Amino acid sequence: MSVLPILVAGEWRRGRGDVYASRYPADDTVNAELAAANVADVEEAIEAADAARRRPDWANLKPHERAGVLFRIAALIRERAEELAHLQRRDNGKPIGETRALVASAAGTFQFFASACETLEETITPARGDYLTMSVHEPLGVVAAITPWNSPIASEAQKLAPALAAGNGVVVKPAEVTPLAALELGRICEQAGVPRGVVSIVPGKGSVIGDAIVKHPLVKKVSFTGGTTTGRALAKLAAEKLMPVTLELGGKSPTIVCEDADLDHAVNGVIYGIFSSSGESCIAGSRLFVHESVRTAFLERLVAKTNALRVGDPEDVRTQMGPLITAKHRESIERYVQLGLDEGGKLLAGGERPKGGLYDRGWFYRPTILDRLSNTTRIAQEEIFGPVLVALSYRDEDDLLCQANDSVFGLAAGIWTRDYKRAWRLARALETGTVWINTYKQFSISTPFSGIKESGVGVEKGRLGILQYKHQKSLYWGLNEKPLPWAE
Ligand code: NAD
Repeated sequence: MSVLPILVAGEWRRGRGDVYASRYPADDTVNAELAAANVADVEEAIEAADAARRRPDWANLKPHERAGVLFRIAALIRERAEELAHLQRRDNGKPIGETRALVASAAGTFQFFASACETLEETITPARGDYLTMSVHEPLGVVAAITPWNSPIASEAQKLAPALAAGNGVVVKPAEVTPLAALELGRICEQAGVPRGVVSIVPGKGSVIGDAIVKHPLVKKVSFTGGTTTGRALAKLAAEKLMPVTLELGGKSPTIVCEDADLDHAVNGVIYGIFSSSGESCIAGSRLFVHESVRTAFLERLVAKTNALRVGDPEDVRTQMGPLITAKHRESIERYVQLGLDEGGKLLAGGERPKGGLYDRGWFYRPTILDRLSNTTRIAQEEIFGPVLVALSYRDEDDLLCQANDSVFGLAAGIWTRDYKRAWRLARALETGTVWINTYKQFSISTPFSGIKESGVGVEKGRLGILQYKHQKSLYWGLNEKPLPWAE
């Protein structure tokens, strides 16, 4: 098997780091071998991105011309959608239906930021003297985009599209286990007319090249999605440079079923919220709060539907849950489930690996529900990042808010109720960046996304998401008829 090249400073070449394999989580076969970037590659990529972003063929593009490049990227992603969806399935193990949706989302993101770029207006501010005042925005320079493995092409698009729309150079470091779609995105950028060197794609271990990226003086912003521990370490390095960061971090999101909820809707929403993507989702609704009056009826339906979920071959369009990303990650989930049992939990569903056939070759795990635990247990407080739901209950709204907000995280929440006043009250009182009301895990690129508390810093997406990748500059244009009087 030949070693896949990576994109460094406008050249497709073998990385100078360790050779490693991208493996299919469903059966552990090798998808591709590639050589990771080392520190020298990363430095070269950053320097090239800085030089390239200053050259007229990128720096001087008019907004509609820059938008044209992004529209072409969107079109090329759509042309190659099926191939990219399968590549991502092999790299990550998600069911094909989900990887198709991620590819569509990536194309939509480039399209959206192309429009944002073309229509972004600068401001003439009210002047307070004999001058005209303007607020304009300039590219930051080189932006580092560091992404996790759980939704690769969509995460990379969410950073690359606004960073390019803002006129920056970008060095993308995808997660080491899922490099393939990011590399293809690099090829697509080239084909769409992004000038040589503006974008590099440097797969590799964060522990080996992460510091070199963040500390490099030419890197002017890091946009990071990943775990809270990594995000905190990276923010400390960024603070030394006084460099802005966007951090999209972990979660432990409450999903709330009120006594007046439509239980058919709620049960589907709760299941989708936790078990889609095998629970490997930052916004997974992993803490279920059911009002005590409907608890028994709701849990009965929930368990029956959970046990009927189709866990299996990611290539089969009917599959709802594929394997977990790696053997190591599955072991970490198993340790959490054991911890939950040790903490006094009772299994209502799952808690084991399925057996036989494909199941024995890949990293599969059954959707799991644990009951009889309190919100203060470790399994209810720590992010598991897998298909594990902790079923909790509540007495009244005060009790609910007290428990639901008792978390270091603040990423998302779901509310199932028919009472619009209650929905409003709860939505405003929940300490999270996103609240879904009678739905869950729905996304629109035009709506901003952010986490609060230990779930993140800064905002992604939305029309003004482009401004996260620019700095503001003020212009004063003197209109005085006479010289400034002070020196007279
Ligand atoms: P991770 O923090 O281990 O890794 C994320 C990325 O950071 C990878 O590319 C990794 O190589 C890199 N990295 C690791 N150490 C680094 C360092 N010292 N310097 C720079 N980069 C470094 O996270 P993961 O396991 O890949 O992803 C799972 C986590 O991501 C979960 O906590 C999940 O909640 C979070 N996540 C958050 C969002 C969100 O939008 N809030 C979305 C998806 C995933």
